Amino acid sequence: MSLTVELLATGDELLTGQVVDTNSPWLMDRLWDAGVMVRRKTLVGDDRTALEAALRETIGRADLVVMSGGLGPTEDDLTAECVARVLGVPLELHAPSLAAIEERFRRLGRPMTPNNAKQARFPRGATVHPNRWGTAPAFTVSVGQATLTCLPGVPAEYQGLAAEVVLPWVSARLGAVPAARVLKLIGIGESAADQAMRPVMDDPSWRGVRFGYRAHFPEVHLKWTVDPPDAEPRAAAIEAAVRAIFGEAVWGGGKEELAALVVARLTARGQKVALAESCTGGLLASLLTAVPGASAVLDLGVVAYADAVKADVLGVPGALLAAHGAVSEPVARAMAEGVRRAGQATWGIGITGIAGPTGGTPAKPVGTVHLALAGPGGTQAVARLYRWGRERVRVAAAFEALDLLRRALEHTP
Ligand code: ATP
Ligand code: MG
Repeated sequence: MSLTVELLATGDELLTGQVVDTNSPWLMDRLWDAGVMVRRKTLVGDDRTALEAALRETIGRADLVVMSGGLGPTEDDLTAECVARVLGVPLELHAPSLAAIEERFRRLGRPMTPNNAKQARFPRGATVHPNRWGTAPAFTVSVGQATLTCLPGVPAEYQGLAAEVVLPWVSARLGAVPAARVLKLIGIGESAADQAMRPVMDDPSWRGVRFGYRAHFPEVHLKWTVDPPDAEPRAAAIEAAVRAIFGEAVWGGGKEELAALVVARLTARGQKVALAESCTGGLLASLLTAVPGASAVLDLGVVAYADAVKADVLGVPGALLAAHGAVSEPVARAMAEGVRRAGQATWGIGITGIAGPTGGTPAKPVGTVHLALAGPGGTQAVARLYRWGRERVRVAAAFEALDLLRRALEHTP
């Protein structure tokens, strides 16, 4: 069974560029996992004429329309009013919602202004969904062949109610549940990944499977959903084929995060890592410390920007700096070894590079980065020449350094 789903995001702030619509991608991603690709997304401002036109068009085309925003108490919150007009029904007070809103204000110890009662008025015939994350309840109406669900715009409320109302509705409608898989790659670009995936994607055995990419710089996430019958075994067979193509570039899948995976592996072994960062300026330390429990694996991170610090704090020999320059493989190795010693850690990571936009030379252009990992089995280094701007160079360097450690942990028992 196929389902046509459209999203309708509303709010002037989305059209002035003040707020980026993050609600739609969040739901698209989860709908995709459930086996539905959203057909179309519309953005409309807080304007009655435009809202009503968009409502008429979307409910005329889709089986399900999910609208976001405009359920609040203020003048510019027009959703219930416009839906009622399009349906040709009056707004009616929903007593349980009014009681819940009054109760919420009492609990928060705040006076309830009269305009808040507006949030308890819905088009006649609507099914009201209580909002456990905020004030304005959501609602669903049926119009012709279409179902229209209106959710609040505040992302936490939108996500909470979408997970509670929309996703179960979609799964029930689809009947059989498709199998969805995500594999996450690092160290390979999206176009190279796409090229390598062609044999799987073009394999006639997988006709009907929906393949896709999710850009997650500097990672590439590959995903696919398989419809029944045999959804699970077929999704697993595709996974085996994809893993065979990409080998170690696949670091994980599902909802895993690279930094969390590395922290978990180090924790399980009782090992620590120490960091010496130049061009990433602490970005790798930040990635690791974002993971709860990182203190079990990280004692020391040094932002060694100046040569003097590389020499004095990390013990990088002055002769090495003079002979090769700060951005060089020998210095990256010495940084990794020096910080490993200083932190008395199992692993030491050194990162040095030219993030740009200035500082490049013909021999060492902007984007040149040397990464090194010192460990029980010695020190290894990799050189990279990234073609992006400063921010991306820094992010890619931090992630690839983390990935060096991930690979080493896979290889050392
Ligand atoms: P409220 O009760 O807070 O007024 P609402 O349903 O009326 O909720 P809006 O007023 O449209 O929602 O939006 C509330 C806030 O939520 C906005 O200020 C904006 O910051 C955020 N928001 C709205 N729509 C989106 C969206 N599509 N993506 C991300 N954030 C959004
Ligand atoms: Mg509002």
